[in-house]
Amino acid sequence: MTAARVASRKPSTSRARPAKAVQRADASVGARKTQVQTQLARLGIRRSFDLVLHLPLRYEDETRITTIAEASAGGGSAGSGSGAVQVEGRVIDTEVMYRPRRQLVVRIEDDTGMLHLRFFNFYPSQARALAEGVTVRAFGEVKGGFFGGEMIHPRFHMLRGAESLPQSLTPVYPTTAGMGQALLRKLIERALVAHPLEDTLPERVYAPLGVPGFGAAVDAIHHPRALSAAGAQREARLLQDRSHPAWRRIKFDELLAQQLSMRIHYRQRRARTAPSLADRGALTRRLQAALPFRLTAAQQRAWAEIARDLEATHPMHRLLQGDVGSGKTVVAALAALRAVDNGFQAAVMAPTEILAEQHYRKFHEWLSPLGASVVWLTGSQTRVERRAALAAIASGETLVAVGTHALFQDTVQFKALGLAIVDEQHRFGVAQRLALRKKGRRAAAAGAEASAASGAEPHQLMMSATPIPRTLSMSVYADLDVSVIDELPPGRTPVVTKLIADVRRTEVVARIRDACREGRQAYWVCPLIEESESLDLQTAIDTHAALAADLPGLRVGLAHGRLGSAEKAEIMGGFMRGEIDVLVATTVIEVGVDVPNASLMVIEHAERSGLAQLHQLRGRVGRGAAESTCILLYQGPLSQSARQRLKVIYQSSDGFAIAEADLALRGPGEYLGARQSGAPLLRFADLLEDKSLVEAAHQAAERLLDTDPDTVRRHLERWLGGRDEFVKA
Ligand code: ADP
Ligand code: MG
Repeated sequence: MTAARVASRKPSTSRARPAKAVQRADASVGARKTQVQTQLARLGIRRSFDLVLHLPLRYEDETRITTIAEASAGGGSAGSGSGAVQVEGRVIDTEVMYRPRRQLVVRIEDDTGMLHLRFFNFYPSQARALAEGVTVRAFGEVKGGFFGGEMIHPRFHMLRGAESLPQSLTPVYPTTAGMGQALLRKLIERALVAHPLEDTLPERVYAPLGVPGFGAAVDAIHHPRALSAAGAQREARLLQDRSHPAWRRIKFDELLAQQLSMRIHYRQRRARTAPSLADRGALTRRLQAALPFRLTAAQQRAWAEIARDLEATHPMHRLLQGDVGSGKTVVAALAALRAVDNGFQAAVMAPTEILAEQHYRKFHEWLSPLGASVVWLTGSQTRVERRAALAAIASGETLVAVGTHALFQDTVQFKALGLAIVDEQHRFGVAQRLALRKKGRRAAAAGAEASAASGAEPHQLMMSATPIPRTLSMSVYADLDVSVIDELPPGRTPVVTKLIADVRRTEVVARIRDACREGRQAYWVCPLIEESESLDLQTAIDTHAALAADLPGLRVGLAHGRLGSAEKAEIMGGFMRGEIDVLVATTVIEVGVDVPNASLMVIEHAERSGLAQLHQLRGRVGRGAAESTCILLYQGPLSQSARQRLKVIYQSSDGFAIAEADLALRGPGEYLGARQSGAPLLRFADLLEDKSLVEAAHQAAERLLDTDPDTVRRHLERWLGGRDEFVKA
């Protein structure tokens, strides 16, 4: 790379090489995929306009010459961000040395001092060209070397006569192997000339934000003017940390495109039809009267929002967010009953068999007394049982069907599906969410086919126990409506969290013995090793054996992901019925299991778990009246991030606060699971730092959609360029 870099700066070659490459890139219309195109594609650049929006990471200041004396004294430059400076001097001598390794050493001087330029990769022609008396400009960082100040591998070129300095800072672009800055700059300059950068937005939309027009913003970012040294420094800093008004304009535009695209989906949904599930009175009120508890205010509010949506003649897509244990299930049951009350069916989908069974039990307990038949679709059913269940669903004899997502995939035909409920939606990343929705649509299609009389698709209620901070929610769930249950049912004793070093394991085992002797039950969750499922399993098996030996007289069970669904259901069932005292488990218990008598939880290797997972797991205890304890066993030494995570989980039990902390620790991409799906949601805007812009974009999008379809079309065309989804699944 260094050789190429030096070479590309040679006056003789710097023109020839990029020019050819540019021509190749310009031939993009043709079918031949050139190397340059492949490299550009790797940078996410597919259309020429993408080059306009390929924005610099940082800048180098070649607008000024620093004297050698100043440079040697560490006089850093304004725009470089590193300590790189530009010097200009006459070559005193040039020497190829061989010790300690082959290198070219060029000594230059100006009126203030002398400097060595040192190259380990060079062409003989370069050594010859850098002859005594030639004037060079070199850009790099000055280090104190053995013989005084030196620059290692500076970028340089030789001056032929008077040459003026550039007027703007030199952008340094994100690049990929084999694509040099010089070529990238050239391609971008050409794109900037080729595209008129007219604004997609009227001034009234962006001016109140204190940001410039689009063209001015793009220009300021690609070619920041170096005014005075001090001005340049400030400008470069704002540009570099992306808080400059020009950057805010680009981020706003990106967020606006996202909002527009998702709100268009939102509005399109409102143009489709769904059965109106009106309040017919009896059933939902009878369920509420029969419950052993009163709904919390938050549950009532969420239910009112859902009930209002269900009554509409377009499909509801509502996300019900609520911390673990906040009581989402009963709200879902009310929604299912509303469908039943209107002569429609409801499907309840859970991510695991265990959860599906639990839902089945709850729904059966609540709904059957009211005359609504509930059926459970499970992997452990015999073929005959399954066929009977499917027939009951198809004929409409069964009104509520519960099962895993997998079971609902293709085979289930409803007579008249009015509502699909998707539980523990947080288990799925953004990509899975979109896939799920497609599946929902397919279920919908199946339902719509059967209920052709109404020509409608079912409503959808999604539930998530991972609370998402408002800004994130506003961004990634902009196509949904969101209800939040922000209150736990009364009478819960808060879970006491303890951090205990793994060396004190025997004390922990003794605590379990005591708790179980008092009739309580305990979970012991084994290391959550993501990379190795088999290691995970082995640890669980070993731990189970050790605990069974250490706890004579207690019934110790083992549940893990490799068990068949029947076996797993049997173990979990045994634990729910109190026939097992201690349940050793891998993360299979992570979601939704509800065993109020379990009051003790031990999580091994807590230092390896993510915050959301720890919070979910801890939510399994503290469901009854007894005081519960969650012991986080950790193995030192703790990394900085593990220490931070454990501190958060130790100090807070509020799911929203934990989610905020998690987001701050991990960043939005990873938090949302975009990393796994490989789809970055946003290139420029940062959902944490740019909260106010998210808000502004949200409001602007609504206004534009209401009043200015031309602007909407222009803006989306620029930002999506033909792609119809902003979030690529
Ligand atoms: P999650 O929101 O995590 O799915 P669940 O729906 O499983 O929570 O509810 C947790 C427990 O709280 C269940 O045992 C449920 O019956 C109970 N519950 C729900 N709502 C209330 C309430 N308003 N008062 C008391 N207990 C409630
Ligand atoms: Mg739940």
